Amino acid sequence: MLATLRRIVQEVSAAPDLPKALAITVNRIRDTMQVAACTVYLADEDNRSYRLMATVGLNPQAVGQVRLNHGEGLVGLVAERQEPIHLEDALRHPRFHPVSALGEEAYHAFLGAPLIQYRRVLGVLVVQDTAVRQFQPDDVDFLVTIAAQLASILNHAILSGATQELLDPLTTGVRTLHGVPGAPGIAMGIVTVPHLLADLDDVPDRPAQNGAAEEAALHAAIAAVEQELCAASDRLAPRLPPTEQALFAVYRMMLSSDSLIGEARAGIQAGHWAPAAWRDAVLARVRLLEQAEDPYLSTRAEDIRDLGRRVLHRLRAAPLHALEPAAGRCVLAAEEMSVAHLAAAPPEQLAGIVCLRGSALSHVALLARAMGIPAVMGLGDRPLGRFEGSEVIVDGYRGRVYLNPDPATRAEYQRIMSADAKLSAELGNLRDLPAETRDGYRIPLYAKAGLPADVAAARTVGVEGIGLYRTEFAFMVRESFPSEEEQVALYRPILTAFTPRPVVMRTLDIGGDKNLPYFAIAESNPFLGWRGMRFTLDHPDIFLTQVRAMLRANIGLDTLRILFPMITTVEEVDEALRLLARAEQELREEGYAVTHPPVGVMIEVPAAAWQTGQLAQRVDFLSVGANDLTQYLLAVDRDNARVANLYDSLHPAMLKTLAHIIEQGHRAGRPVNLGGELASDPGAAVLLLGMGVDGLNPSTVSVPRVKWAIRSFTHAEARELAQQALELDTVRQIRRLLDAALRRAGLDEIIHEPT
Ligand code: PEP
Ligand code: MG
Repeated sequence: MLATLRRIVQEVSAAPDLPKALAITVNRIRDTMQVAACTVYLADEDNRSYRLMATVGLNPQAVGQVRLNHGEGLVGLVAERQEPIHLEDALRHPRFHPVSALGEEAYHAFLGAPLIQYRRVLGVLVVQDTAVRQFQPDDVDFLVTIAAQLASILNHAILSGATQELLDPLTTGVRTLHGVPGAPGIAMGIVTVPHLLADLDDVPDRPAQNGAAEEAALHAAIAAVEQELCAASDRLAPRLPPTEQALFAVYRMMLSSDSLIGEARAGIQAGHWAPAAWRDAVLARVRLLEQAEDPYLSTRAEDIRDLGRRVLHRLRAAPLHALEPAAGRCVLAAEEMSVAHLAAAPPEQLAGIVCLRGSALSHVALLARAMGIPAVMGLGDRPLGRFEGSEVIVDGYRGRVYLNPDPATRAEYQRIMSADAKLSAELGNLRDLPAETRDGYRIPLYAKAGLPADVAAARTVGVEGIGLYRTEFAFMVRESFPSEEEQVALYRPILTAFTPRPVVMRTLDIGGDKNLPYFAIAESNPFLGWRGMRFTLDHPDIFLTQVRAMLRANIGLDTLRILFPMITTVEEVDEALRLLARAEQELREEGYAVTHPPVGVMIEVPAAAWQTGQLAQRVDFLSVGANDLTQYLLAVDRDNARVANLYDSLHPAMLKTLAHIIEQGHRAGRPVNLGGELASDPGAAVLLLGMGVDGLNPSTVSVPRVKWAIRSFTHAEARELAQQALELDTVRQIRRLLDAALRRAGLDEIIHEPT
């Protein structure tokens, strides 16, 4: 059973589109279970009804036509109960709902299983048989297991609107993709995929400009790979046994197969450019071989894919296939965006960001916020390359992406963009005003920064300095560790740009989702692993070089503050302070007039939160890393889109922990600032002020809204809000409380904007 199940899942996953995936599903299940009918119903957009999308055994004309409401008929009952239903004779069940178009009257035995993903019923899978009979427990297990697997495969197809596309060919090309909000705002532009044509699945559809030239390029690419194989075979001949040598001949035969080349040529003649025609021909063959039961043939599927890739590689080199960067505003799309991708894109051209992996707390999303670029994360597996060159709308508030939007959608988003621009222009007036409550209580707002582009952005929004400069981003866009001199050259302009205002520079915080291309750390639980201070204390050379550079960059300015990330124990702080003192001492001996800067620790691990008092005695200030503190307190990976709905820094446990940190920090006489995205949420900012936080680091793009919120309340109102929030049991109640307060203060326009 397991082998059959695996094979079916493999086949369905490899299907080129949703209709084929569903057809494979119903056919294979019917054959395996030896039943008369198998049918798939999928949830409609409104999620209230289930539409028949594929069947073997029932009337094929009913596909796309028959729809059952939630709770209607046996299918509706399976969806309603969210559990399998097994009936010897469905026709005698009171909920049996005869649909004349289906021809179900001939079927008595019924077994239905819900397709559930992330608590949502995506559809119902049904098998039926003509006899009045019981299905065996094995049958039920099989259907339930395959339904669980299918739900996860189908989830993305359903969310991306492919079901709609299937029903209404007129909408083909328009797609709504659902992800998680990464950075707020709306962007419109053309999709650009870095590293395109790296793999067959990524090849975008494009028309051939010149069919003859495309064919010639394809033949040249195939010939080049054939030559490559010949050369490799000659080179290795003396060292390879004859059986292995023969493989090269097999590869060459596969490559020069008339049918493969013929199919690719037919694709070109049908108007496609060579990479897409080649992709289709190769993948069709791969699918065919993968379906074979024979292990020899399924191994050949990998071989043909590899050969296909090699030819693609050659095709990519042909000038004919150069992918010119999208003119005008582009939306960068990648599976995992690296900081280097972001840094390389010209800021005036970069409109938006779309990422298949990650969540709002991934570092790329944080950077996007700092740079004011709307982003959607966690879109899940998609053939991204195929979207290259398409027009797209990125809705960073709701986490939606619209590909090839229709005029109505475009007009609606243009309206939202204008309203956003108007509000931003109005709030621009607050630039030179302090974040001060109506009764004159002032809380400094500091920016977060990491790349030159967001340091520049931070200067335009009216902040009192930089509250968190993430030094690791500069390390991530290089090819080796920067030297002391290079780091001085990096830090000095940042300190100078903000003098006399302070700049808090955090020592290297790599690990977790921040890896250096030249120092890979492979761990199974990277967020619980070698991160931040843990790494730098194990590499005092790297730490000393960095703090020496900071101290030197600060000479004559005295605006530097140093912050230690990911602190878990007091010993780590003692050790870091000892190294810092050593660096200061050595620099003085070398003749540098360095001064001792104020030093702080990040409170972002629950253990540190519960030792706030002891930590505070050792340093000058505390900075709460609310992003990490939330992840560690709630045990929710900040980078995992699957559990993004559980991640919320307004969790009651977070508020209680924050209250404890603030109280302990103040008892030790140290200011407590708050970094992390919680500070970017206008309602939360008022709450934090009320709780007694001494400074906030919102993301640059959120500074005007946060300032607006703070200037709309009195200190007493904020304190009252904090007291009420601390009494509540759920995130939902806390959010409601904050929304109601914002509404009363006349701030409706910023409610429900995910920050
Ligand atoms: C945090 O954890 O809240 C924080 C500010 O640091 P980072 O997001 O860079 O981990
Ligand atoms: Mg952190």
